[in-house]
Amino acid sequence: MNEHERRATTEALFRDVNERIAESAERFEATETEFVCECADPNCTHRVPASLVEYEEVREDPTTFLVVPGHEHEDIERVVEDRGRFRIIEKVQAVVRRTVVRLDPRSA
Ligand SMILES: [Zn+2]
Repeated sequence: MNEHERRATTEALFRDVNERIAESAERFEATETEFVCECADPNCTHRVPASLVEYEEVREDPTTFLVVPGHEHEDIERVVEDRGRFRIIEKVQAVVRRTVVRLDPRSA
């Protein structure tokens, strides 16, 4: 696995965690919850407060992710929206894009 694939895989793992957080929030009929930051740092433990509606917007596109402001990495992604509490980033690096699309939990 090269460096780009490794970072993309880390982000995809955080995305999987958030899919489960969203499912349980829905089960408890919550409209807002705390997601984990979906950045490329495997040791990141930051939480991102967001509504389930906002989360679904991010998840619609397999190349967009939810991160704490400042946790974006300009060599592989760009900020598409800054919502204050979190930023929506889009993967732009080719290998990273391909990897996160391949690992998209919604594409089954
Ligand atoms: Zn982070």
